[in-house]
Formats: sequence, structure tokens, C-alpha cells
Amino acid sequence: MLIGLQVSRGYDGGIHEIIRLFFPRCRVTYEPVKTDLKVDIRVKEGPGYLEIAGELQGLLKKTGQSRIFTDELGEVKREVRAFTYRLLMEATSMNPSPYGILTGVRPTKLVHRYLDNGYQEEEIQKELRDKYLVEPQKAGLLTEVALRNRPYLLNPEQVKSCVGVYIGIPYCPTRCHYCSFPAYPLEHRPGLDEFFSALLLELSRIGQALKELDLTVDNLYVGGGTPTVLSLTQWEKLLDVLNRYYLGSGTEFTVEAGRPDTLSGEVLQLLAAGGVNRMCVNPQTMNDETLIRVGRRHTVKMVRSGYELVRSAGIKHINMDLIVGLPGEGAAEFENSLQEVIRLKPESITVHHLAWKRGSVWQMQEAAIEQNEADIGTDTGSIMASAGYLSYYLYRQKYMTGNQENIGYALPGCFSIYNIRVIEERQTIIGMGGGAASKYVDPHTWKLTTLHYPKDPAAYIKRVEELIKAQVDKLRALS
Ligand code: SF4
Repeated sequence: MLIGLQVSRGYDGGIHEIIRLFFPRCRVTYEPVKTDLKVDIRVKEGPGYLEIAGELQGLLKKTGQSRIFTDELGEVKREVRAFTYRLLMEATSMNPSPYGILTGVRPTKLVHRYLDNGYQEEEIQKELRDKYLVEPQKAGLLTEVALRNRPYLLNPEQVKSCVGVYIGIPYCPTRCHYCSFPAYPLEHRPGLDEFFSALLLELSRIGQALKELDLTVDNLYVGGGTPTVLSLTQWEKLLDVLNRYYLGSGTEFTVEAGRPDTLSGEVLQLLAAGGVNRMCVNPQTMNDETLIRVGRRHTVKMVRSGYELVRSAGIKHINMDLIVGLPGEGAAEFENSLQEVIRLKPESITVHHLAWKRGSVWQMQEAAIEQNEADIGTDTGSIMASAGYLSYYLYRQKYMTGNQENIGYALPGCFSIYNIRVIEERQTIIGMGGGAASKYVDPHTWKLTTLHYPKDPAAYIKRVEELIKAQVDKLRALS
């Protein structure tokens, strides 16, 4: 379906995203060509107000008008988006997203901005419902999550001296069909060994800069890919550098063991002794048939034995990820996975909704796969609450099953600092390694500047000196 969009200049931010909520597979064009539907949104000045007028022509016919009594640009743009959403809702009799016009990845950041401005919980929920068309249950969830994680946010003074670190190891045993992360197969050239040498160089140099600048690392996350593809010797070297420059007595140190088939008791003992205090063992589903269908090479039995290996190595905090909406799975299959994981008693469980991501096998084969767009209807929040888990961070992605969200749940006292900080974006996170992204936070405005690393190991190896220099320059500018 081709949709023609016209919006008054200066007010068009994000209107196409609103249209895609109603017509997920449409193409939107701004060209004056023949289309199935025309969406025309105009903003005109009136005496003391701005008038928003909209018209749908073609497959749907509808007109509407609204007035807004401010010329503050951000507020007018918000109202233009809300107006477009309401117009399409009336024309289609659909309300496609429980998050209304909040189409961004980090909706809880908006709640934090309200809290910064002294709003109370009830007032924030009302704003979310009235201005952003968020459904009451989601407005409650967003405020609940933000209030829970607020004590873990840094104040502007702390932002100047305390950073988080992300290290990306972009290799995996096989590629899951839904994956869009940097995850090169182990046979890829350049291989893990060459990549690892460049990474060690980078970690040493950035580590020295952190020491010189007196910056503390209070959370460190090794992700990927699957970091547990590193050998015992590589881990020894990595842990040596991290202990020399990065880790303090209270640093939260997470290693992602995304694939249980990569776990070895010997490496786990080494990790525990080297300061790793949090590990992710991710089943995604506790259904063997689905694991085969999504291209993972492990079984449910391997998840259980991997979990036990991590426990017996003495790593205190285990997180497990599940995905809602995997192909062939409905509410019964997901609830079974959830209950199985809860029975293992990990300290935290992250529940994702399947998203159709650019770069994934499924996205490339989209025509061959029927997307399950419905929310499967499981009341995950209630199940988690009755098992004692609290929702403490939340983020969204484009093209998610049922326009839902990903939620991190944890037992009280087990919230991951890294997860909170990376979502709420109130701490500088230095990304190193393949496909990593650094975000530098301005403590006065909370504005971000970013530095993106290449995903391809060959490009990373080639550019590592230049990337180190760019990082060090950015870190110097922080202090
Ligand atoms: S384990 Fe994670 S990073 Fe690796 S292929 Fe699967 S989804 Fe991608």
C-alpha cells in the first residue's frame, strides 16, 4: 500500500511513524504521485492559537480540526502527532498501539523528564494518557518502572566522574534467524584471534586514559555476539586488562553467555574469580522445537545444565531472556517457558517481544513469514509479580509483536545498573569492540553525543587506532 503524506513544513517529525502504526507494511511517499491513501496535515496560524487541520483521501475519507494555544515547537509537534493518530483512529476504528504516539525506544525517559519538573505520579499518568494517548495500563507501567529505577540514576556531578563500559565481541556459533546484532560466525575471516588482539590494544589504551582522567567504572557489560566463544587463554588476558584498569570493588560486571552451548566450567570458574558477578544465560524459549525453528543450536536441557554450571561457579546474579511471539508459539508455549524459567529462580528475567529487525534473516525473508502482530495475551506482569519479580527497566523497538515492549524484571535488590543506565541515558557509556556504540552524556542538559564503531571485525581492526583516538578525545572533553 502506498500512502502519500503532506505535512506543513517544520511539523513533520515522526508523522510517518504514526501512519506505520496503522498500516505496518505501507510505503510512505512525500512525492506528488498516485497513491492508495493521501494524508494531508496542515498547521495554520490563528489569532492566539495554531490550527491543525487534517484530511484523508482515497481508501479512507475523513477530515478533522484541532486548536493548540501555544507556539512552543515541541508541544505543537506532539499535538500534530496526536491529532494524526486520532484522525486515523476515527477513520479506521483501530487503536493499534497501547503506547499511543510514543513510538520511541525509551518511553520512560519522558517520565523522568516529568519527574525532574516536579510532577507527581498521578499527574504524569494523566499527561501520558491525555497528551500521548497512552493506554492507562501502560501509563501505569511506565511510571512504575521509572520510579523504581530513578534511585539508580546519577546526578550531574556523578556523571562527570563515573562511567559505564560496554565491550562487544561480535562472533556467535550460529546466527539466530531474528538476530540483527553484530554476530559473525566463528569461521568468518578475520577471525576471533585477530579481532581479540585489536580489542586488547583498545582496552589497554582506553583503560590508561580512564586512570589518567580519574574516571570510575561502576558497571561493565561484555556482550556481542556471544562473548563466551572466547577461549580460556583469551579470557585470562581480557580479565587481566579489565582488573588492571576498569574494575573496582563495587563494579557490576556482566558477561553475556547468550548461548548455553558455549559454556564451560573451567571458563566460568575463571570468570567468577576474575570479578564477573552477573551473567546472562538466555534460553529465549524453553521449547526445543522452537529453538530449532529460530536457528539456535542448543536444547532446553543445555539451558538447564548451563544454568547449573554458572550457579556452581559461584556467579551470584543470573539473568535469563525470553521472547514473546516466536513463530509457532502462542500464550500456552510462552507461559510454559516463563514458568520453567521462574522455577530455576534466576535473579532477573528479561521478557522481549519479537521485533522484526533490519539485517535479520527473517526480515530478509519477510514475504515468506507471516508476522504474528497480535499480543499473545499473557499477563506477564501479574505472573512475574506473584513470583516476586519487579519490573525495573523497559524499552521498545520498531515492528514489535503487538506494539508491546521489552521489560526487565528482577528480584528486589537485583536490578542491573547497566541495564537501567543504558536505557535511561543518564550516564556516559563507553562502547568498545565490534559494533559498539558510545554515548557521552552532557550532565547539564542530558544531551547525548555518540560514537559508533564498525560491526565488521575487518573494519574494526583496520580503524582501531583512529577509534581509540576519537574515544580518548571525547573522554577528555568530559572532564
Ligand atoms: S545469540 Fe544473540 S547475538 Fe548471537 S546470533 Fe543469536 S541473537 Fe544474535
